[in-house]
Amino acid sequence: MDVPLIDLKAQYQNIKGEINRAMEAVLASGIYILGPEVAKLEEEMARYFGVKHAIGVNSGTDALFLAVKALGIKEGDEVIIPAFSFFATAEAVTLAGARAVFTDIRADTFNLNIKQLEEKITPRTRAIMPVHLYGQPADMDQIRYFAGKHKLKVIEDCAQSIGAEYKGKKTGALGDLGCLSFFPTKNLGGAGDGGMVLTDNEEYAGIIKNLRAHGSSIKYIHSEIGINSRLDEIQAAIIRVKLKFIQAWNEKRRKNANFYNAGLKGVVLPFAPDFVKHIYHQYTVRIENGKREAFQTYLKEQGIATAVHYPVPMHKQEAYRKLGYNVSMPESEKAAGEVCSLPNYPEMTEEMLQYVAVTVNNYKQ
Ligand SMILES: *Cc1c(COP(=O)(O)O)cnc(C)c1O
Repeated sequence: MDVPLIDLKAQYQNIKGEINRAMEAVLASGIYILGPEVAKLEEEMARYFGVKHAIGVNSGTDALFLAVKALGIKEGDEVIIPAFSFFATAEAVTLAGARAVFTDIRADTFNLNIKQLEEKITPRTRAIMPVHLYGQPADMDQIRYFAGKHKLKVIEDCAQSIGAEYKGKKTGALGDLGCLSFFPTKNLGGAGDGGMVLTDNEEYAGIIKNLRAHGSSIKYIHSEIGINSRLDEIQAAIIRVKLKFIQAWNEKRRKNANFYNAGLKGVVLPFAPDFVKHIYHQYTVRIENGKREAFQTYLKEQGIATAVHYPVPMHKQEAYRKLGYNVSMPESEKAAGEVCSLPNYPEMTEEMLQYVAVTVNNYKQ
């Protein structure tokens, strides 16, 4: 049996009629960028998250970059981020001209380690950017406590956590700004790039709307140097269809994860405290003692796809080494050497889940 990591073709087949109708309506309308579909998606997402403003942009990376810009963060400022995430989290800060200050992660949740947070704060620190990695909320109460104590802003990277909850509240609505990605493989993905910024703050929302369209709020009149980060109508129309299914899809991912948690042996299972709702955008285990590569090869031979999210922590990436970063983040480095994501997506059948579990359990180390 072949089990891919994710199956976007199967997802499309299940909702093909609705997706095709939505796309055809856009094509027939003649309005292709920042039109009524984007406006409706922004309204629906603001309602879904319980925030005042949702601004559609071109990618999750742009969402993070524009959130940093909205706070007026610039050269000489520092933003604290976890060393273990997708590269874009750090890139957005560096692109805005500020310094990304890396913090190590918790070994159990893979999220930013609060114990090291305060020692990273300097007079130049302006914001903390937690990542809800794999769909698991970071320690938001403590992050907000330190942010309040030191007058810092909080930008949430929710690229993997749409629908995840921390103490009953959705990630994305817990900081000053929340950033979403609609990259196709994310749990709410389009058929191309897309992203969104969430905020309750009217001033930030205004700045982001202006910057996403060349620093212009009135056609051909430019008040700032902005970028082109407009969301397409086709993407918005597709995401609006999928938004109706996100709750059910997340619940299926959680159900799959519970099945794995109850049945897998010989691997280090993911951990989630009971006050968070982990949506398992990735179901990621640890394979210890340098055995990961052999484990992946074995699963591949049995038709099961796996992936490493992520093999190199930020501070070890060449891009940051070239910028003079020379720090040590033991837990991030250890995680990078051990993590392995197993197939987990809503369209997985009972047989596929059984097959993955049995195959993992038959692995002889
Ligand atoms: C995917 C991702 C991003 C970037 O989103 P894009 O839409 O691909 O630009 C940022 N942060 C994290 C944690 C991600 O997983």
